[in-house]
Amino acid sequence: MNKVLSNFSIKDYNTFNIDVKSNKFISINTEDQLINYLTKNKGQEDIFFLGGGSNVLFSKDYNGTIVHLSIKGKKIIEESDDNIIVEVCSGENWHEFVMWSIENNYGGIENLSLIPGNVGAAPIQNIGAYGVELRDVFDSCRVLSRESNEIEHFNKDKCEFNYRSSIFKSKEKNKYVILSIRLKLSKEPHSFNLTYDSLKERFNSKEINLSNISEEIIKIRKSKLPDPKKIGNCGSFFKNPIIESQKLEKLLQKYPKLPHHKSENGFYKIPAAWLIEKIGFKDESLGDVGVYIHQPLVIVNNGNASGSDILKFANSIKNSVREVFNIKLEEEVNII
Ligand SMILES: Cc1cc2nc3c(=O)[nH]c(=O)nc-3n(C[C@H](O)[C@H](O)[C@H](O)COP(=O)(O)OP(=O)(O)OC[C@H]3O[C@@H](n4cnc5c(N)ncnc54)[C@H](O)[C@@H]3O)c2cc1C
Repeated sequence: MNKVLSNFSIKDYNTFNIDVKSNKFISINTEDQLINYLTKNKGQEDIFFLGGGSNVLFSKDYNGTIVHLSIKGKKIIEESDDNIIVEVCSGENWHEFVMWSIENNYGGIENLSLIPGNVGAAPIQNIGAYGVELRDVFDSCRVLSRESNEIEHFNKDKCEFNYRSSIFKSKEKNKYVILSIRLKLSKEPHSFNLTYDSLKERFNSKEINLSNISEEIIKIRKSKLPDPKKIGNCGSFFKNPIIESQKLEKLLQKYPKLPHHKSENGFYKIPAAWLIEKIGFKDESLGDVGVYIHQPLVIVNNGNASGSDILKFANSIKNSVREVFNIKLEEEVNII
């Protein structure tokens, strides 16, 4: 078992690059270590489970224990003529896993290339990009219950996946540690998802295959999103709000150019980036905090911003959007 470190700076463990300290910090490499650690510390509530730190904003020092999950491994557990089911441990890097699937010609997650973070966090917010979400290929996951310290299995329905959400981010928040996930990936012939116009345009004369899709997505993402190794950020800070049709109609009278896309059950999704740009936050900053020049939905740390600076800035965006549009933005990033 790795050593428990005290008063530990987690600057290198969060992609906002915020220099906050955790009272205690431990990296865990195996399921047995995790179970032993949690058995020894039964009842301790202030434990935070950390993956790649790419979807979390530490607004202040963490006065508890951060358990960094670094459990590695993957294996194919079922194979038919059409599909495989692969089990991947929580501490595997997501993008490296996507690259492995492409190298082996397994389809289904190529549109999720270059999403930072680890496999264990992927179900938490049902990661998604370019028309594909984790739930599209998800089979099940193994989780450790914080209450009983027992391993349980959750199938897809039990995870209650939704847009950037799941049971683990809503009613069962902090109650389970994801140990591994099982995904059903396709063997040839693949069905490709090119529903995003910006992606489709690139394939007018180019062969469509898994690696070409992944390459194009990587190019688009690199042109639109800041590299967390260079500029601190957590990707989209807010979810795209979903509003009912009556509210949309009212807003369209005032803002005829308001972009909107049909969502489920007669609701409409509005791009939060458009709202943020419209209220003038593209040019706003607070010390080292601002929005990314190519994508106003991404809040960036341009240097030495603190977590509370970022939170203050995010809250002022939220307040302005509510005042101007009567729309409540909801954070996609987990605020601690
Ligand atoms: C540049 C950039 C682009 C991004 N683009 C996208 C995108 O296109 N689509 C998208 O969906 N997201 C995107 N994200 C957000 C982020 O990459 C994903 O949400 C990712 O899944 C987070 O993984 P992580 O390991 O870094 O999680 P962390 O930030 O470490 O944790 C996130 C949350 O999950 C919990 N958690 C982590 N691991 C476990 C576990 N094993 N068991 C239980 N709880 C756990 C944590 O406690 C925390 O609440 C982007 C982020 C960045 C920086």
